[in-house]
Amino acid sequence: MAGIEVTTLHKRYPDGTVAVEHVDLSIGDGELFVMLGPSGCGKTTTLRAIAGLERQTSGDIHIGDTLVNDLPPAERDIAMVFQFYALYPHLRTRDNLAFPLRAEGLPKAEVEERVAEAARLMRLDALLDRRPHRLSGGEQQRVALARALVRRPRAFLMDEPLTNLDAELRADMRTEIKHLQGELGTTMVYVTHDQVEAMSLGHRIAILNKGRVEQIGTPLEVYDRPASLFCAAFIGSPPMNLIEVELADGKLRSKSGLALTPPPNLPLDRSLIAGVRPEALEVTEPGADGTVPGRVVSAEWLGDEIIYVVDHGGQRDVRVRMPPTVRFAADAPVGLRHTGGPPPVYDASTEELVA
Ligand code: ATP
Repeated sequence: MAGIEVTTLHKRYPDGTVAVEHVDLSIGDGELFVMLGPSGCGKTTTLRAIAGLERQTSGDIHIGDTLVNDLPPAERDIAMVFQFYALYPHLRTRDNLAFPLRAEGLPKAEVEERVAEAARLMRLDALLDRRPHRLSGGEQQRVALARALVRRPRAFLMDEPLTNLDAELRADMRTEIKHLQGELGTTMVYVTHDQVEAMSLGHRIAILNKGRVEQIGTPLEVYDRPASLFCAAFIGSPPMNLIEVELADGKLRSKSGLALTPPPNLPLDRSLIAGVRPEALEVTEPGADGTVPGRVVSAEWLGDEIIYVVDHGGQRDVRVRMPPTVRFAADAPVGLRHTGGPPPVYDASTEELVA
């Protein structure tokens, strides 16, 4: 096992596209580290550089204590799982699993032992004699994961391995991957554009934007205090409400008078935007204590909760998460108030967290 250090990574493709502007990552030994970001932000390029499938333009990559810049993929002792499973179609599951080990020339008994162990971990025992065309998508992906496992690498690199599965299977496989990583304790770098996947899997998450790291933190840290407006808009479903505010009478106030508790050490020489989670707001009967007037634009009933979209003070898209028992019809007048503690506050021009 090994940690991974990525230092001042920069990648420019021959056509001039800069895929990775500047990335520094320090991934702990045994950590499940997620790289999250929108399409084109440089996640895959960073992962491929770690794997040795892409040569960086500049910067260093260490796996454990080894500087691997000049090592080919096969000598980096990592295993990669992609979105597309790439199993050998003519081989049965047991031979798909054994293939990389036979290629390494391991003795037969050891190959059998490792295949049996990976099959047990990925619950493939009953499927060992099937060829890929007789496996479901989820089963094929389990075989692909097991084939990475048998190699007992120093680290796993996963590039959106669950994208092709339906929602239910994805949730199941997420649980399995997390459990497996915990059991094996092997360092894992997992790339996804799905923030739910990132939040539920990662010990820590790096949020990438335009080839740069915007924030690295635990799921709780990136949820509670997104480091920039970009991160604030990316994490959470629905994401934070971004509300222009000013400090007045000891309170942060939106233009329409919605009052929020200010965080300490607020800089006052600039325009400010508060990031307010939908669950830190409340809709009430109009005129209730401490509320400002609003109007329901729409109500999305999700079974266990309702997301109200409220028109408030000229901002037509303030989202509020309420229990399903609180019912207002579209167009109803409501009161709106803040119920949470001090929100994170951003500089409107730099878009960075300031308090
Ligand atoms: P996605 O989630 O869509 O896979 P990503 O965050 O993984 O996106 P990358 O695949 O790393 O992003 O691509 C980053 C940028 O580099 C994109 O603008 C992409 O078009 C560009 N790019 C990727 N591969 C190449 C290549 N071989 N040649 C030129 N540009 C490339």
